[in-house]
Amino acid sequence: DYSQQSPVRGHDEVERLSRAFNELAARLESSEARRRQFVSDASHELKTPLASIKLLSDSILQNEMDPETQREFIGDIGREADRLGRLTQKLLTLTKLDSSVEEEREILDAAPVVRKVVRMLLPLARLRGIGIDTTFEPDCSVMTVEDDLYQIVFNLTENAIKYNRQDGWVGVSIRRAGDQVELRVEDSGAGIPPESMEHIFERFYRVDKARSRAAGGAGLGLSIVHDMVERSYGTITVQARPGGGTIFTVRFPHFDLEEDET
Ligand code: ADP
Repeated sequence: DYSQQSPVRGHDEVERLSRAFNELAARLESSEARRRQFVSDASHELKTPLASIKLLSDSILQNEMDPETQREFIGDIGREADRLGRLTQKLLTLTKLDSSVEEEREILDAAPVVRKVVRMLLPLARLRGIGIDTTFEPDCSVMTVEDDLYQIVFNLTENAIKYNRQDGWVGVSIRRAGDQVELRVEDSGAGIPPESMEHIFERFYRVDKARSRAAGGAGLGLSIVHDMVERSYGTITVQARPGGGTIFTVRFPHFDLEEDET
């Protein structure tokens, strides 16, 4: 029980020690509370698709139904299983980010990574009639883990497509801004309500629970982005786009690409 406070009295030294002890205890308690909250939220998210799978399989077993309906239900089970898979993957990623295991960072040009992500997401964008404009400037090297950088750009760009309107627009750019490298992902979607902006990077936070869940989201993507950006010494901000939509800006410190040693 960390909540017990030790009384502060006596000499300065004792007082200082006692205060330091109380601060430490409070910090431990709040990180323990956060951990407990995380486990409880995660369990809740896992339960929802599991409950659907159980319901669907029970009704296939217990009800007479035509083969077509049966196939439909089995398809639903598959989709729920996929959702569980994606969710578990995200939870694992977050757990790894929380552990103090350091991954090897390297200095690399961010532009090819951004290009790769956009290429991967083009089919999804096309499906929704969304056009993606890209800007790549030279000399955008940052200190990062390549998989992290890929994930950062992927989550932001996928959101820009997912939370957009049919036939909307997405802009992805990477450019040098002084001694920084700036990644911008913007969209023409409905935008994020101002009162939600400060919560958007919290774990399990969703603006529109029903709509986001239908899109397969658990509110973890942006918290993963946030932690990965920090691990690459960067910062991330979000703002409303004039005329509708959202702009996410990630700023990394620029690192010179090391010269070939030969
Ligand atoms: P999810 O997996 O639910 O998409 P995220 O952490 O990626 O989780 O995003 C959290 C919430 O922020 C989303 O549920 C959505 O409501 C909102 N959001 C994220 N990106 C955008 C965007 N580009 N436009 C509008 N809303 C967004």
